[in-house]
Amino acid sequence: PYSGPSAAQILHKRRQFLSPSMFHLYNNPLNIVEGKMQYLFDESGRRYLDGFGGIATVNCGHCHPDVVAAIVDQAKRLQHSTILYLNHAIADFAEALASKLPGDLKVVFFTNSGTEANELAMMIARLYTGCHDVISIRNAYHGNAAGTMGATAQSNWKFNVIQSGVHHTMNPDQYRGVFGSDGEKYAKDVQDLIDFGTCGRVGGFMAEAVQGVGGIMELAPGYLPAAYKAVRKAGGLCIADEVQSGFARTGSHFWGFEAHGVIPDIVTMAKGIGNGIPLGAVVTTPEIAQVLTHRSYFNTFGGNPLCTTAGHAALKVLEKEKLQENAFVVGSYLKERLTSLKEKYEIIGDVRGRGLMLGVELVTDRHLKTPAKTEILHVMEQMKDVGVLIGKGGFYGNVFRITPPLCFTKEDADFLADAMDYSLSKM
Ligand code: PMP
Repeated sequence: PYSGPSAAQILHKRRQFLSPSMFHLYNNPLNIVEGKMQYLFDESGRRYLDGFGGIATVNCGHCHPDVVAAIVDQAKRLQHSTILYLNHAIADFAEALASKLPGDLKVVFFTNSGTEANELAMMIARLYTGCHDVISIRNAYHGNAAGTMGATAQSNWKFNVIQSGVHHTMNPDQYRGVFGSDGEKYAKDVQDLIDFGTCGRVGGFMAEAVQGVGGIMELAPGYLPAAYKAVRKAGGLCIADEVQSGFARTGSHFWGFEAHGVIPDIVTMAKGIGNGIPLGAVVTTPEIAQVLTHRSYFNTFGGNPLCTTAGHAALKVLEKEKLQENAFVVGSYLKERLTSLKEKYEIIGDVRGRGLMLGVELVTDRHLKTPAKTEILHVMEQMKDVGVLIGKGGFYGNVFRITPPLCFTKEDADFLADAMDYSLSKM
C-alpha cells in the first residue's frame, strides 16, 4: 500500500514550489501512484480505467513488463549522452523506426520531445528550401518553443510569440468548417496564402492528420493531397506531425498521414514513441538530412541509450501484440457505441476520430453548435467518480478526447461507453 504524501500535501507543495501555470484535471485532482496496462491507481488503491493515457504517451500500456525490463536492464549498464561515443541502442532503434516509414524516409534525428522535433523539422525545411515562410493549419498544436508556438494556431497556447514567417491556413474542419467534408475546397486556401501572403515560394507546410489538442479533428478527406501539391509547387517541404496520431493509434494505419494517401518529406513524432519515456524523433530523406551537415548539430540527450532502448522495446510490443489491429477493432466498436449515445443525448453534437483516437463534442444546441463548456466538466467529474478517466480539448474545451492505451479491450470500451451514458443521464 502507498505510504507517501497525500493529494492535499502534494497540492500544497505544488502551490509553493511549482509554476503557477501548472494545471490538473478534476476539482479534486487525483494522486496517481501506480499504472498497470490500461489502469491507473490512486493513493487509496482505487482503480481507474485510463481512457486518456495514450495521448500522454502510453501506447503499449502503463509499465508494460517488456518495456520496463528493457529500461531496467539498460539503466544498469549505461545511462549517458547520445554524443561522443558509439552505442548500439540508438542505431538499432533508428533502423527499426525507418522500417516503419514509407518511401525514402530513412534518416532519423532523435529529440527529447515533440516540441523539439517540430522545431528541428521547421529548421530543416527552411534550410533545405532557403525560404522562411511556413504554413500551418488553424486549430493546430505543434509545441511551445519560439518556432512551434508560432506554428501552433490556437490563442490559448500562444503567448506574446513572434510569428516568424508562420501563416495559418483554414482548418479543414468537417464539423464546423464552411465546406463540410470537401477537403479540396479548404486546400484552395493554402494556394491563396502562397499567392497573397508570400513571395510565391514557401519553406514548408506542417499538419497533424488528426488534430489532437484541437479536439480530435480529422482533416477532411482530399485535403492533404491537394495541400501537399500546392506547397510542393511553391518549393516547400511537407511535414507530418505524428506526435499524437502516430504509432498505430488510428488503427487503420501506423501513421495518421497514411489514411490520406500522401508521403511527407519530414515526419515528426514523440509521446507514444517511448511508452512514457521522454523521446521524440524527426525522420526525413537522406538528401534533405544533408542540410544539417552545414553546421555542427547535436542534441545531448536526444536518442540516449536509455530512451531509445525503451522506444525499441515499445515498438516490438506494438508488433508482437498486434496493437494496431486491436486499436482498429476496439476503436471501431467504441466509436459505434459512442455514436449510438448521440441518438440518445441531444447534447452530443459530433462523434469522430479513428481507431483509439476518438472525440465526442458536446453542444447545448445542435443547430447553432454552441459549445457545452461547463456541461462537459460535470460529465468528466461524474465519469471519474465511476472510475473512468478521459480527457478534453478543442478550442472551446468542449470535446471529450478518448485516447486510451492501445491494449484497451472491448469490455473496457463497454465500460467507458456505459460510464458516459450514466454520467450524461445524470446531467
Ligand atoms: N505536436 C502535437 C500534435 C502535440 O499534440 C504535442 C503535444 N501536445 C506536441 C507536438 C508537442 O509535444 P511536447 O509536449 O512533447 O513538446
